[in-house]
Order: sequence, then structure tokens, then C-alpha cells
Amino acid sequence: MIDVDEAQRIVLAHARPLPTEDVPLRDALYRTLAADVRCDVDNPPFDRSIMDGYAVRAADTGRIANPAECAKASATLRVAGRIAAGQQPRRPLQPGEAIRINTGAPIPPGADAVVRVEDTESANDGRDVLIRTAVEPGNFITPRAAYVKAGDVVLQTGMLLTPAEIGVAAGAGAAKLTVYRTPTVSILATGDELVDVDQKPAGAQIRNSNQYQLEALVRSAHATPAVLGVARDNRVELRRKVDEALLCDVCCITGGVSMGEFDFVPEVLAECGVTIHFQKMAIKPGRPVIFGTTPRGGLVFALPGNPVSSFIGFELLVRPALAALQGRPNELPMFMPASLVGSLPPPGKRRAFMPARARLGHDGGWRVEPLRWHGSGDTFGLAGANVMIMRPPGAPPTREGDSVSVLWIGGFAG
Ligand code: AMP
Ligand code: MG
Repeated sequence: MIDVDEAQRIVLAHARPLPTEDVPLRDALYRTLAADVRCDVDNPPFDRSIMDGYAVRAADTGRIANPAECAKASATLRVAGRIAAGQQPRRPLQPGEAIRINTGAPIPPGADAVVRVEDTESANDGRDVLIRTAVEPGNFITPRAAYVKAGDVVLQTGMLLTPAEIGVAAGAGAAKLTVYRTPTVSILATGDELVDVDQKPAGAQIRNSNQYQLEALVRSAHATPAVLGVARDNRVELRRKVDEALLCDVCCITGGVSMGEFDFVPEVLAECGVTIHFQKMAIKPGRPVIFGTTPRGGLVFALPGNPVSSFIGFELLVRPALAALQGRPNELPMFMPASLVGSLPPPGKRRAFMPARARLGHDGGWRVEPLRWHGSGDTFGLAGANVMIMRPPGAPPTREGDSVSVLWIGGFAG
């Protein structure tokens, strides 16, 4: 039996980034960059007005002896045209002139400041403008290349492309992006007792909740699930389905990994040429977890049948592995401290996890409340869970207000 840290170290040592491919920008959401993105032009590409107002020479707006005089200063300038966003200035600004300008429009040569329209008054039937506030050079102008220069790296290899980075790539002119290939993940449930979601369990049957849960987890990790249905508890059927499952980059099997006489998964994996690196992890729930690799370098996870156990196994091992295959090699689960609502008995000898809901308290700190939950087989205890409370082995009982460590689940953070 090994610790979680050691298990993660072994998994990550076998999870190498997949090959890369080019994709159109609009297909790049939640992919990981495999090449830096550089901006192809200066940004902004020209000196640009930040406000609707008048482009002027600062020196024409009045002398500023001290800042308190700003409000009193005023000047009258001749209006010599207008520049809207997308238009080029037709001629330079001459001394004593103002040019009406809109947000985003280029500053005409000769002007060195913008006075916002709120600080002006139209006069002489619009032929003149009264400037009510003296301004300094550079006022309300974003100079060319103030954000980035042509050739600057704006997104780095290894970045996950969230909506924020998609906007950056668009600004940089990156119509195509080089990203890592998306991992395919086969999902195979095992068990004679399983029925699908649209069937009513009869007798000794239960619903196959793991398949749907795992499919959702795989999607939340930005990988592509391949759902292979259920393998019944006999060697022949299991062998056939496992052979098929191993064709994917990653294979997730649930159930059949305990000590029962019908738990054939470890033997069948060995028969299929899978090298098994560990079989048990020192956590509760979720101790029986197999990690193996195929001769082609595929990753195999056999997770426990109990739904909450398989959920935890996914978060601790499969999610970091999927990030590594996508080009983010060190993305381990994120823990944060939170103040406990209620109390908890000592966790025992293994690192313990339980579903809980974290909320931001009025004091700005996180508070976490364990959910009503009856143990690893209780799927329903996950309703509303956004974290798992994690307690180290041998920890003392935990009381109201004590700090506990919580793990974000479902792909929320990171
Ligand atoms: P096993 O690991 O096959 O011994 O299964 C452990 C427990 O998890 C048993 O109570 C199973 O009925 C249950 N179980 C196994 N597979 C699933 C599944 N796909 N969905 C929900 N529960 C499952
Ligand atoms: Mg079983």
C-alpha cells in the first residue's frame, strides 16, 4: 500500500504529453498550448484615444501652475474636423485647433493630449470648443505598443486556453494554435449487478452510476470519453472489453478490483500485457486502485466500484494524468484551508476524504460543511459537493472552527 504522493509521482512519471496538432482558434478552448504565441503587430497599433473628446495640443489648453488651478483653466480652440474609430486623421492638428475624436480613434499628428467631452462646451455654433480643464501631454492617450510590441510572446507553451487566453490569441492574430492532442479515455464498468439509468433495478441490481460520473469527470478534465458499457463478471467478456478499452490513451475501469472471487480485473489486465505499478493506495475510502501501463505507453486506472471511492481516485490520480498528457505536467490537485462547520471524529490510520460544500464566509475566509453521507457506496452524498475534506492519517478529532484541508473537485480550480 502506498501514499497518495508516491502514487501521484509514479503516475506522472508515466504520463508524457501527447503529440501536437494545429487547430482553428475557435476550437482551441480548454486545449493546452504546445507553442508560444507571439503578437504579430504592435498593440495598440497606433497612438489611440481612450475617451470621446477633443484631440489637442496640451500647451493650448492653458498653463497649469499648480493642480488646484486645473479646474479654473480654460481656452477656446477652433474645431478642425472629426476622427471616428477606424478613420485615419486627414490632416495634422495646427496650433489653436481641436479635432473631435472618438474612443479608439488614432491621435492626429500634432496633437499630444485628449480632453474628454465632459470637460468641454461647444461654442460659436459648433465652430469653436471651450476647454474647461487644462491637461498635460499624454492625457487620455494609449501610446502605440503600450500593451505589447510586435514579436512579444503573449501566451506561453503549457498554458491552458480558457476564455481569457482565447481573447488574447485573437488580439495577437493567432487564427490557428498549436496544441497538444486531446486524450481519449475509455470508460468500462464491471459487474453483473449493474443496470443502466433508464432501467429500474430489480432484485439485487443497482444502477450503473459510475459510468455517467466518470464520463462527466473525463469531460471536466477536457478529455474525450469513449463509453464502452458494462463488462459482466466473467473472464471472457472482461478480456474482450479490456482489449478494446486499451486502445485509448487512457483506460478507466471501475469495479472488480477488490478481493472478491469475481474481481478478475487485476488478472485480466496482466493477461492483456498491462504492467501494474501499484494496487493499493493508503486512503479512505478508495484503497483498491490499480495503476498500470500498456506496452504502447497507454495509462490504465482500475478504480473501486463504490462511486465515491472512484470519484476520489479520479481526482487524485486520473485528473493530474490527463493534464500531463495535455501538456501540463505538474498540475496536482489543489488543496486550500477552510474552517470546519460542525465536528468530525478522528479519521483513523489512512488519509481520509469526505464530500463537503465550501462557501466563502462573511469574514472572507472559506467555511466547509460536510454533507449528509453514508460512506463510499452512497452516491447521493455527492449532491452539492464542490470539495472533499481531506484529513491526514492519525489526525485528532476536529471541532467547529478548526482549520481543515479541502480539495476542489469536478475541475473547479486550476
Ligand atoms: P466491486 O469493486 O466490483 O467489488 O464493487 C464495489 C461496490 O461498488 C459494489 O457494491 C458494487 O455494486 C458497486 N459498484 C460497482 N460498479 C458500480 C458502478 N458502475 N456504479 C455504481 N456502483 C457500482
Ligand atoms: Mg464488482
